[in-house]
Amino acid sequence: MDLKSMYPGLPDPPPAGHPMLAPGTYAGQTILITGGGTGLGKAMAVEFARLGGNIVIASRNPQHHQAGLAALEAVGGKAIAVPLDVRHPDQVARAFDEAEKAFGGVDVLINNAAGNFPVPAADLSPNGWRAVTGIVLDGTFFCSREFALRRVAAGKPGAILNILVAYATGAAPGHAHSAAAKAGVLSLTNTLAVEWAPDGIRVNALSPGIFPHQDHSPEMRKQRPQGYEAEWNRVPGLRTGRTHELGWAATYLCSPYAAYVTGMDFMIDGAERHRRALRQAEFVPIRQQVHKRDPGA
Ligand code: NAP
Repeated sequence: MDLKSMYPGLPDPPPAGHPMLAPGTYAGQTILITGGGTGLGKAMAVEFARLGGNIVIASRNPQHHQAGLAALEAVGGKAIAVPLDVRHPDQVARAFDEAEKAFGGVDVLINNAAGNFPVPAADLSPNGWRAVTGIVLDGTFFCSREFALRRVAAGKPGAILNILVAYATGAAPGHAHSAAAKAGVLSLTNTLAVEWAPDGIRVNALSPGIFPHQDHSPEMRKQRPQGYEAEWNRVPGLRTGRTHELGWAATYLCSPYAAYVTGMDFMIDGAERHRRALRQAEFVPIRQQVHKRDPGA
């Protein structure tokens, strides 16, 4: 069915670089983004930088650091990159120390780092489970706690944004590790929003739908042989997301314009999460989907 010729779908957003919030909204503020050197983390970092924020990219791979810094330099952003494996609380503390040395305190924390690979739950090794839950759930908690302790000690407010996925609230065949970890982060979002609101710290989540970018891992790409862009026909809005749209949502949620927004899971997915068919498509067990054991799958 040629859906594009039958329906307009959701309109495209204004182009990247178009102003959304007031210029200088983040002037003098520091934003630490875990995994900020690739994909969606990099795209969000760029939007914070356009609004005058100082950016701290925090992740493990120096090549990712260079890529993130180059993207930020291209929009005239001020940025540093610090080594960090979010699974280690001592490294988290060091990353915040380095951010403070460069720019003063961190005002906004984006917990974006993640690991993921599709696998039937029965085939998932304990190491694979620990790697993904360690990055997503432990890492989010360690970074959030470090951030909050420092904000409270400094007597300053702050904002945390946790990057989730649509399946954090439902079943996710092939992603048991990631879904369990993201569901845990959703729970943390709600709990920490309540615990830390009296200290002026807001905690929100942002759940992207399908957002193609250049840095998807080979494991994730294998499941989409036609490429991420070709996934537009799985979305009721008949298009995939643009990474700068996600950046706009992130900059809004962490800004003073959202000062009363906390404990919120903001979905940006063209209604993909709510999609249901009149009759569900034929059921295909996850082993057949991931390992392609059934030629018809
Ligand atoms: P990505 O390009 O693979 O980014 C993952 C990032 O996490 C990398 O920059 C990586 O940096 C960092 N990272 C991984 N392990 C880390 C660790 N132990 N310590 C510190 N950093 C670590 O993925 P993405 O597509 O941009 O996804 C970004 C976020 O959006 C994730 O939370 C993901 O679940 C969510 N999301 C994405 C989509 C989508 O369509 N793309 C949809 C829904 C949700 P290093 O390798 O340098 O450490």
